[in-house]
Amino acid sequence: MQEECGVAGISFKENSNNAAASLYCALFALQHRGQESAGISIYDGTTTRTKKGMGLVPQAFRKNDINELSSAVGIGHVRYSTTGDSSIENAQPLVINYKDGILSLAHNGNLVNSQELRSGLEAEQRIFHSDSDTEVIAQLFIKELSKKDIISSIKEMVRMLVGSYAILMLIGDRVIAFRDPLGIKPLCIGKLEGGYIIASESCAIDVVGGTCIRDVKPGELVILKNGAMEARQLYNSKHSAHCIFEHIYFARADSILDSKLTYQSRIRVGETLYDEHPVNADIAFPVPDSGTTFAIGYAHRSGIQYLEGLIKNRYSGRTFIMPGQNMREAAVRLKLNTIKQNIKGKSVVIVDDSIVRGTTSRRIVDMVRAAGAREVHVRIGSPPIIAPCYLGINMPTRHELIASDKTIRTIEALINADSLRYISLEGLIKSIGIPAEDFCTGCFTGVYPVEIPGEQCTRAQLKITEF
Ligand code: SF4
Repeated sequence: MQEECGVAGISFKENSNNAAASLYCALFALQHRGQESAGISIYDGTTTRTKKGMGLVPQAFRKNDINELSSAVGIGHVRYSTTGDSSIENAQPLVINYKDGILSLAHNGNLVNSQELRSGLEAEQRIFHSDSDTEVIAQLFIKELSKKDIISSIKEMVRMLVGSYAILMLIGDRVIAFRDPLGIKPLCIGKLEGGYIIASESCAIDVVGGTCIRDVKPGELVILKNGAMEARQLYNSKHSAHCIFEHIYFARADSILDSKLTYQSRIRVGETLYDEHPVNADIAFPVPDSGTTFAIGYAHRSGIQYLEGLIKNRYSGRTFIMPGQNMREAAVRLKLNTIKQNIKGKSVVIVDDSIVRGTTSRRIVDMVRAAGAREVHVRIGSPPIIAPCYLGINMPTRHELIASDKTIRTIEALINADSLRYISLEGLIKSIGIPAEDFCTGCFTGVYPVEIPGEQCTRAQLKITEF
């Protein structure tokens, strides 16, 4: 599974020229949210200038790019594609020249009704240059802007968008940020010396020496200009629908999301996992890195010794599909290897964040058995994933998800574990400490916070009113 994007925007007082350098650092901190392309747009007092490139942040920018983008204000983006190809045309920020200026736009999320909106715009002779839903948002905004002011245009556009979005726009010397009325994607505000930063996660605020002051509220619009901030609530909804997977997997453990430090949430998930599913074992260890904090919580609560059993190769990156069973097993060993001395003859608990297709879990269990484990118990810090995500997480189809049509006992046998247990949804929500009705839990329940053709929807979260 992959998060699809990270965004950041900065405004300093006019006499600064540090926005691009700070954005570079912020995007570096958000790299886990997207590794396919990166880009920065700045306003230099006269015009908007943009640099984009494919790959990780250090690959996407040439040595002099950041110096050439000297400015007090700008936005940036790291991308992993969900809607649209992985190509430079789809890299963001997306830049569009319109009648009164230049719009630069960075989007994290996924529109469910992108195709429908695009067809409507194309029928009005609007020309698209990419296949991304971000361009649909930009074109809709420009269309509204020809009739109204910026705030009214955004307000009108939000009425039409169905899906998840945390958006940053650069229009002249203003950074304009808004979060969808359900707050599905994270977005937070930090104070800097002489300015403000808005970013997907607070870890991006930390790296530039800022202080996270609060989240952008669901349905809120925030404007940064000349190092000052102004906020306005556009829409209200009785409940939010924060993506619960951000808290347990996607966000960095040092990030504060929706006022919760993800590290602490994950420790508590590990503790609850033990309370719900204890086991007698000699050692507990994670599938690194995603299971690490859960395993610490599990070991802490149980008193079982925490001892590393698997080591991750930090340089393996994404493994491509290799033909043949032997080569596929080699591909897993490229990423992970066992510490045999820690495992041999022992009963072990392996803790991981989730099981998607089940194939990696099976290979890990086999690897641990081959290292001499006497018993292998698997504990998972999320409930079974039974349904896909339509809201911005790149996930396999329902058919490919192992838990979509199999019982836990069947999966336990398929991955060759002595026991397999998942945390309950109630236990997970209690561990994070946000009310159940303020989460999207679509991939665990098959019930989503927005209307998606062919899927069930939680009506309670749909109720959105103008502020
Ligand atoms: S369906 Fe799952 S991954 Fe997608 S937004 Fe909802 S909780 Fe997050």
